[in-house]
Amino acid sequence: MPLRYRPPFLFLVLVALFLSPNVRSQNSPVPYDFHGLPIRSHLADPTIEKKVDALLKQMTLEEKVGQLVQYSVGTATGPGTGRDRYDDMVEKGEVGSLYNLADVKAANYYQHIAVEKSRLHIPLINGLDVIHGYRTEFPVPLGLASTWDPQIVEKAARIAAQEASAAGVRWTFSPMVDIARDARWGRMTEGAGEDPYLGSQIARAYVRGYQGTNLSAPDSVAACAKHYVGYGAAEGGRDYNSTEISEHTLREVYLPPFYAALDEGGASIMSAFNALNGVPSTANPFTLTEVLRKEWQFPGLAVSDWTSVRELIAHGIANDGATAAFKAFNAGVDMDMQSSLYHEHLVDLVKAGKISEAQIDDAVRHVLRVKFALALFDNPYTDETRENHGALSKQSLDVAREAAARSVVLLRNEPVAGQPLLPLNRQVHSVALIGPLADDPQQMLGSWSARGQATDVLTLRTALEKCLGVDRVKYAQGGQIASATDDDIRAAVDAARASDMAILALGEDAGAMTGEAASRAHLDLPGRQEELLEKVSATGKPVVLVLFSGRPLTLNWAFTHVPAVMAAWFPGVQAGPALVGLLFGDAAPSGRLVVSWPNSLGQIPDYYNALSTGRPADNNDAANEGTHDAKYVSRYVDEPNAPEFPFGYGLTYTEFRFSTPELSAKKLSAKQLSEALRNRKADPETVMTVSANITNTGKVAAEEVAQLYVGLRGTSVEEPVRALKAFERVSLAPGETKKVTFSLTPETFALWDIHNARAVEPSRVRIWVSSDSAHGTAVEMLLTE
Ligand code: BGC
Repeated sequence: MPLRYRPPFLFLVLVALFLSPNVRSQNSPVPYDFHGLPIRSHLADPTIEKKVDALLKQMTLEEKVGQLVQYSVGTATGPGTGRDRYDDMVEKGEVGSLYNLADVKAANYYQHIAVEKSRLHIPLINGLDVIHGYRTEFPVPLGLASTWDPQIVEKAARIAAQEASAAGVRWTFSPMVDIARDARWGRMTEGAGEDPYLGSQIARAYVRGYQGTNLSAPDSVAACAKHYVGYGAAEGGRDYNSTEISEHTLREVYLPPFYAALDEGGASIMSAFNALNGVPSTANPFTLTEVLRKEWQFPGLAVSDWTSVRELIAHGIANDGATAAFKAFNAGVDMDMQSSLYHEHLVDLVKAGKISEAQIDDAVRHVLRVKFALALFDNPYTDETRENHGALSKQSLDVAREAAARSVVLLRNEPVAGQPLLPLNRQVHSVALIGPLADDPQQMLGSWSARGQATDVLTLRTALEKCLGVDRVKYAQGGQIASATDDDIRAAVDAARASDMAILALGEDAGAMTGEAASRAHLDLPGRQEELLEKVSATGKPVVLVLFSGRPLTLNWAFTHVPAVMAAWFPGVQAGPALVGLLFGDAAPSGRLVVSWPNSLGQIPDYYNALSTGRPADNNDAANEGTHDAKYVSRYVDEPNAPEFPFGYGLTYTEFRFSTPELSAKKLSAKQLSEALRNRKADPETVMTVSANITNTGKVAAEEVAQLYVGLRGTSVEEPVRALKAFERVSLAPGETKKVTFSLTPETFALWDIHNARAVEPSRVRIWVSSDSAHGTAVEMLLTE
């Protein structure tokens, strides 16, 4: 049973050493302090434990090691092992998991071999990267997070689980919960952005959706929080690159979404490719054993990333495969994805006395727990009639459309002829629809689209032609994403000239420029798209830019010259209907940025929850201009610090007014809050409330996301100037005022202190309730001794 209280440090150490079957690393290099609380996990179930123990007793060493081996079959490419025949290995019990199987027939085929032909009949666990949908593709995760709506994320993940499990997939390598502060990193598109609080809420939503109320249900899939940990901090935004993250920042920023995913019951975790502070994440005893097993008491499965065990050789911490296997296993990686090094070396390492059989047993326990929790022993096969080969269901499409509509962030909406350009009027006589992303269904699926099919996608062109009629839409592709001819551009400009206005669908190539191994050193529009945009704008026709991208792009010209700009990310199968609905005002945009949108490359990494520094740039105000105080501050001489658009930002078709927040208490005792933190109750305890009135001052009904930020001053470590601690979506009719009330818990005020302990410290607190991270009126309160 996980512990629910915080026992004294020494007691915890003794219990961990004496009792814990989960702990493999005997000595950690530094005596780390463990002050976090154990996660609440549903995997630690006594009936499952009995079955696991009984099975373990019957297993040979070779069969145990087999459970720790995973291979990709068939469809995916990438560096591999050269192995392509699995029947024999599965029959001999040499494989615990396969992934990337083509379909349900392949899943059942291998499962029959495992269950009927292997000596102990242990089922395989079949995995796949189901990242933002299986066949019904939802917006890419950055878009899903931009909904600021955990419920829609959960619904999307539920549908993904139902579809994936019907194809025999019971394990998805999702959610990716890496915090990303650098838009050059292509994998920003796969996560929930830069904020640990929002990231944690979104992580929980994915886990609830994938795993359902019960993992044993045939339509549940085990979640896998990845990539543990710090992968998003890759230096220079270059994929797979090394990271340096202090323990404090690791705990405050990078670990929370992992903790949240596992605390929500997430069954597995994936170790990352990157080196963290000089130790590759796949061989890092601090993160994989000290934090994950000892501190959090995670009972589930830790898998490596694709060949990341073998990559320990390239990292330079192993000169041969046996050493790589030893280091990864000893640090705490249970299952080797694709390297084949556990397969080849673990038995020998045990025989040589380098790894004990008890350590192997612990790792196998982690795997078997998940297999039992999924009820794979009772129901190993998938009913082949479950999978839908016909059209996508209305219910899935409705969720896909709603998610897509909510994911779009309206960045700019300037007046044209006296009023904001958007929403457009359906009476518009003719529209030029221009750009390489206006009618490319494959692109709308985004990166990692599992079994998404281009034929399921409705593009912007299809939806616009349906809305206005083919005759009123003049389509011109304007070239490719990365190249265009003069004729392409001329034809597009002609289409704009011949129309009342133009909608430009521009952006990145989802496959080549976003996702894994797709870091960019330039964040402008690829190819000749900027030229296309400027030439079409020069016709004088009003222009709406719909931007498709996996990250923010630095588009200074567009943000000063194009009246309306929408960030659409890659919206999935319902891209067209969702966008047309927003363009014509059937729904008002309600997406909000989950990453700060840089003004220029030089600002990167940029994130709102930064530290103040000793010379904050806001000294540099008008009153100080030209003075010594204005110069010697933390800033660039040639670029403001403020991003183009701040975290949390997003316009809609109305405006909202926030009242000054009201606090139910002006003082709380830090000591009492610290104690409450350690004695965590099942339901978080409300220690005070903060409320604010929000008024829709415009003429259109819309949703606002009220965001509560907290800043602490006077603490033992420097804390962010402001950090998100709660948010709520509020739907408001024109003229309507609603009061939002946030319940604050001890966690709202908690930090990792100078000793890396979780605590609430005496401090001055500033609280904002605002529409984004750069606005609002702060009110103050005190945390006393
Ligand atoms: C990626 C993971 C993914 C794995 C399996 C790796 O290249 O980094 O995110 O889950 O492949 O496909």
